[in-house]
Amino acid sequence: MDLGLTGKTALVCAASKGLGKGCAVALAKAGVNLTINARGAEALEATAEELRALGVTVTAVAADITTVEGREQVLAAAGQPDILVTNAGGPPPGMWSDWNRDDFIAALDANMLTPIELMKTLLPGMIDKGWGRVVNITSQSVKGPIAVLGLSNSARAGLTGYVAGTARQVAKHGVTINNLLPGIHATDRAVSLDTGVSKAQGISMEQARLNRCETIPANRYGTADEFGATCAFLCSQHAGFIVGQNILLDGGAVNTTM
Ligand code: NAP
Repeated sequence: MDLGLTGKTALVCAASKGLGKGCAVALAKAGVNLTINARGAEALEATAEELRALGVTVTAVAADITTVEGREQVLAAAGQPDILVTNAGGPPPGMWSDWNRDDFIAALDANMLTPIELMKTLLPGMIDKGWGRVVNITSQSVKGPIAVLGLSNSARAGLTGYVAGTARQVAKHGVTINNLLPGIHATDRAVSLDTGVSKAQGISMEQARLNRCETIPANRYGTADEFGATCAFLCSQHAGFIVGQNILLDGGAVNTTM
């Protein structure tokens, strides 16, 4: 399917690895020129080279997207992109009683206020052009809370509320905002969560992974490639009527009817 994106421009945040990289790869395959970001310069530059090999131009900005200074650097490089994919690392796991105010502020900064700041900066340019796409990478925790990820449950719920209202205000300008909700995917984040479970329960990494697979009807982890393909479709010319949705990519893990 031709996604109709050849020659468009995109900013994809937190994209040297994992789901962000999956989105960047899928957009590059659709002919989108990219600005990508992550904190670590080495992995970021390696990903930029992979993307350039797909025939698009790529600007890589090593910066922390959750800081004011980092966002300024990234936004200066990105200009007025047609597409924004927001992403950042997820908050650490713990118990409901573990976190203090500073922990909550850090989670809100990373997973709620950073995407909101990016949207506030870039939506006006999209509205002026009469076309734009925003995809926020959030989490299945928005639909079904994950006990050990209370910081994620909280911060991402806040972002989801902001998107629900904002998406319906900008849609008449040809700009769509939607959220992609990953369930368990085979990325470094999954390895880090499996490591925590393996240590806490005294089981092997392989057993921790098998146990988590059993909680997923598809009985496997998702891949960054299939996640990226869904993101690229949401950014495509065919998805202009999909507005303010929260789309689960979880292999059926969240047990809801709707
Ligand atoms: P990942 O494999 O650990 O990759 C994270 C990427 O983000 C890396 O490129 C990392 O590079 C970059 N990054 C992290 N913090 C950043 C920051 N402050 N500024 C700029 N770049 C940053 O993670 P993932 O699995 O792709 O997860 C992406 C998001 O989806 C996370 O918020 C995660 O919580 C959420 N999620 C993931 C899963 C899953 O199973 N994978 C499930 C639900 C939700 P640097 O470290 O070099 O900055």
